[in-house]
Amino acid sequence: IINGLVVEANRLAAVLSETPSKLFCSSPPDGNNTPPSMLRHLTSKIKATGPIPVAEYMREVLTNPVKGYYVRNNMLGPEGDFITSPEISQIFGELIGVWIISEWMGAGQPKQLQLVELGPGKGSLASDVLRVFSQLQSVLGGASVSLHLVEVSPALSLLQAQNLTGNRSQEADAEDDPVYRRGETDAGLPVSWYHRLDDVPAGFSVFVAHEFFDALPIHKFQRTEKGWREVLVDIDPEKPDTLRFVVAPAPTLASTSLVQADETRDHVEVSAEGGVLVQQLARRIIEDGGAALIIDYGHNGTKTDTFRGFKGHQLHDVLASPGSADLTADVDFNYLRRMAGGGVACLGPVTQRTFLKNMGIDTRMQVLLRNCSDPSTRKQLISSYNMLTNPAKMGERFHFFSLLHPSRLAKPQKPEGLKLEKKKSPAPLPVAGFTELKFA
Ligand code: SAH
Repeated sequence: IINGLVVEANRLAAVLSETPSKLFCSSPPDGNNTPPSMLRHLTSKIKATGPIPVAEYMREVLTNPVKGYYVRNNMLGPEGDFITSPEISQIFGELIGVWIISEWMGAGQPKQLQLVELGPGKGSLASDVLRVFSQLQSVLGGASVSLHLVEVSPALSLLQAQNLTGNRSQEADAEDDPVYRRGETDAGLPVSWYHRLDDVPAGFSVFVAHEFFDALPIHKFQRTEKGWREVLVDIDPEKPDTLRFVVAPAPTLASTSLVQADETRDHVEVSAEGGVLVQQLARRIIEDGGAALIIDYGHNGTKTDTFRGFKGHQLHDVLASPGSADLTADVDFNYLRRMAGGGVACLGPVTQRTFLKNMGIDTRMQVLLRNCSDPSTRKQLISSYNMLTNPAKMGERFHFFSLLHPSRLAKPQKPEGLKLEKKKSPAPLPVAGFTELKFA
């Protein structure tokens, strides 16, 4: 079955016509100048209320509406702080486009298809997905497609609007409208921007979150002789303008509610916000149909201290010059699976290499190479393929995890009793990209 599926995915991938490959983005950085005001903001907060949870620190540093790192910067790309798979190669987003279409088909080709992306960065992934949609228009038929972007950063939402709609978007500022920007793609598809997932309208949706969950605030907990204690951020009493970690002297609400009773590690990171989002995704998928694809670096509840900063493609001390560097933590897929609950089916995580190979990346590469005679572009194509799939690069560090409507994995029903007409319900189409089929 799986082989058949791979062939199907390969075929779909091979159908895609050739488009020039976008390898490395080249937009200039918006200037990553450190706002010392972020440090001032944090120290006055700590002076007023006492040491703050790591989750609050991370939320303030990354998404404070005025001074947050994501709110102020364009950090993606060779000249920014980090580079992501959709920015490395168009093939990445194209294969996700094929996956979305295949899930839409698996769901019985509903009339409406909402593509919802969480944290779309520059909008490259969405743009590659939409290109596939327009190339596979004959497959999508008359389905009405709309794009919904959940983005906190005004700076990045403008960049996304530029990339996806050219100048066909406007700010929407009606008071009771959760949409803060609206536009239309070249092909006339409606695009809407929201601050929160909760604001996205109900309806059959495929959700994509690439390098999004790792940016959500984490709580940190340390096992001590007296039990679990939350790690907090405080001002160093010896060096007034410097922050340091401290361990809370007494239990906090978070330390009593977020650590599992049978936890065996000594140090744990939990993104309660990530958990809530997965619950919302699961509820939407159960109620309205659809699927979610969560792609990130992470582990299955085994790692301990993964909180780190990135600045100019280098590791950066998480407490030094806050607001000038990206902060991130590995995603705990076990935790996400637990929070998704039993009502939704979970697949994965599988490695990026496995997923992309199952989706036919090799065939797609051959098509692109066959149509490209320029030696330097060929070299770039091969090196970006290597970057995405090499186990020592992104191939095994990144994982694909999916939430699906339970009917997508339902076993075919056995005919009951002796009936004249023995009609078995057909097995659902296998889920592309994942080789291992598991129930939540
Ligand atoms: N998916 C893109 C960008 C990853 S960076 C890529 O892979 O290239 C993280 C993205 O999530 C940015 O667009 C950032 O502004 C957005 N983001 C971070 N925290 C968010 C939050 N709490 N709510 C909505 N968007 C958020």
